[in-house]
Amino acid sequence: MIDVRYERGVYLPQHDLWLDPWDAKGCAFVSHAHSDHIAPHNEIIVSERTARLMQSRLAGERIEHVLPFGERRTVRRLDLMLLPAGHIFGSAQCFVFAGDETLLYTGDFKLRPGKSAEQAEWHKADTLVMETTFGLPRYRFPPTEQVIDQIVTFCRETIDDGQVPVLLGYSLGKAQEILCSLKGAGLTPMLHGSVYQMTRIYEQFGQLFCKYVRYNANDVAGKVLICPPSANRSRMLESIPRKRVAMISGWAVDANAVYRYQVDAAFPLSDHADYNDLVRYVDLVQPRRVFTLHGFAAEFARDLREHGVEAWALTKENQLELQLETLARDSRSSIGSSPIGLDRDICQCWRNHCRDCRKVGKNPLACKLLAEARSKAASHCGDLFYGPRFCPERSAHIANRRIDHLPRDDGSGEIE
Ligand SMILES: [Zn+2]
Ligand SMILES: [Zn+2]
Ligand SMILES: [Zn+2]
Repeated sequence: MIDVRYERGVYLPQHDLWLDPWDAKGCAFVSHAHSDHIAPHNEIIVSERTARLMQSRLAGERIEHVLPFGERRTVRRLDLMLLPAGHIFGSAQCFVFAGDETLLYTGDFKLRPGKSAEQAEWHKADTLVMETTFGLPRYRFPPTEQVIDQIVTFCRETIDDGQVPVLLGYSLGKAQEILCSLKGAGLTPMLHGSVYQMTRIYEQFGQLFCKYVRYNANDVAGKVLICPPSANRSRMLESIPRKRVAMISGWAVDANAVYRYQVDAAFPLSDHADYNDLVRYVDLVQPRRVFTLHGFAAEFARDLREHGVEAWALTKENQLELQLETLARDSRSSIGSSPIGLDRDICQCWRNHCRDCRKVGKNPLACKLLAEARSKAASHCGDLFYGPRFCPERSAHIANRRIDHLPRDDGSGEIE
């Protein structure tokens, strides 16, 4: 079967194709314009909308292979087809035709219809490489309309109390989804500059929104502020004395989300598939083999294996697991199917750290904290990990890059 590797991005060595690599490569498929998926590659394979969004988010020249959705095309002697991923505006999955074999790479995706993203589509594939950000059964999202009702009620009640409602959602994708959700609610959204900039690009492609205004510090009364999570506790928001802040994120399903994000409320509107939809997707694609990445990748792969689907996480821990499993199978030894225990002494939080923090292993402060975290129960080290003392350059990282698909709070909420 097609060889699939993971080295800070998915790599198909037989075809020399990278899928959403973190580092600059010769040629890469870029699924969407979130900052954890883009890098200054020489050549990119993208959807038209992603190409446009990427131009505004990443300076520099590059060769763009812009492909339409749903049409088989040949790029560098490889047959590909992009399919809408439903994650954000322009987000694409990559379907690879390799001889008589097929592979589907989802990038970030969701199956629920979004108001500002194309509806996801799929095809059956031999190999499915999927994101599993919310790969634990506890991440089942309530119906979207119910969540939107709660958000609208939160805004109305806050304004009625003479306060300013602030909704936090990342500037590309989530903010526009929030904006669409407020349509018809009789509210006036006021957009943070970064949100405004992205929203204008959507409009260039014909997306319609309700009436909104750009942020004006002297005119916030009666408005609904839509800001990126990084604005929380910023001078901009601190200057508004009477406000209520709500985080809009799938992680709101966690009971302690309000404390982690330091907000007044949290609502689970997500651009990612929830656990049920992850399972459903595997049923729809009917792959012979699944590779998982992001979030609870190892846990979800294990769930699939327990249900008879061959599945492996594209993480270091899981590769070890795979090796041991193969070893166990080959030697019929008594290791059986539980080599999983090996990485259990490390809190799950540590599997997914900010990409800048990958150098953390060499950081004596972080190493000390890692040892401390290992000595504690998994549920207790969230604060340790995300606490300001974890990474001395944390705020700089958040400002410059972002933290990738954290299963828990990343502090900035920039979970794209
Ligand atoms: Zn960091
Ligand atoms: Zn994303
Ligand atoms: Zn992502």
